[in-house]
Amino acid sequence: MAKLTMDEINSVKGKGFLRNRGTDLFSGRIVPVGTVFTAEQLHAVAELSEKFGNGKMMATSRQSIEVPGIAFENIPAAIEFAEAHDLHFGGTGAKVRPVTACKGTTCVFGMYDTQALAKKIHETYYVGWSKVSLPHKFKISVGGCPNSCIKPSINDFGVEGNREGGKVIYKIYVGGTWGKSCRMGTPLSRKVEEEEILPILEKCMLWFRENGYAKERFGLTVDRVGFENLEAALASDDLLARKEEILAAEIKQKP
Ligand code: SF4
Repeated sequence: MAKLTMDEINSVKGKGFLRNRGTDLFSGRIVPVGTVFTAEQLHAVAELSEKFGNGKMMATSRQSIEVPGIAFENIPAAIEFAEAHDLHFGGTGAKVRPVTACKGTTCVFGMYDTQALAKKIHETYYVGWSKVSLPHKFKISVGGCPNSCIKPSINDFGVEGNREGGKVIYKIYVGGTWGKSCRMGTPLSRKVEEEEILPILEKCMLWFRENGYAKERFGLTVDRVGFENLEAALASDDLLARKEEILAAEIKQKP
């Protein structure tokens, strides 16, 4: 019989611990850096599962690993053990979620190093913006070619490697989502160079923070406010110039 209060359950959800249905046990979600775990880290995950969980580990659909069966009172010790082994729980909440990437780094069809780009986005935004709240969760995916194995077009922000005139160029999708409601990401009207990807991503999130209503996914904001409005904002540096002001503001509530 479960005895924990909702406050207790929610207090650990924000740290990456999701309640196992009908119990007072939790799955701890461990987030890789740029989608890659080292062998040493996976040994430590196995040890963590034996010490604090039920000896099992599950790969999530977004390339994290969850360790189920962790008792509420063991969560602080599990976090301490993880941190000591360079592992980090997380990946929940209305903010940047763990970045996914296909294996374009090694895939014969890969046009660039997808895991390196995912790592850069992970460090700059998943970690760097970990205290930044957004109107809703924000999923980012990095794909190596138009085969789309990692489905960038159904993420809030998706990158897809393309080739034009013998050089790699990047197609960006915005506002994709899949689940209770589905929306294919809208491709930006032009393909971009590699060095443009992070500034465009940052502008998208600032625009979303300024225009989105609490609990509204990015694609719904794009549809409500207008894709043209977003593209005009991306073409200017106004959002970056107002970054501090935008990050300090409250997120709008739906009227
Ligand atoms: S999307 Fe392309 S590069 Fe990435 S895994 Fe699939 S085939 Fe390989």
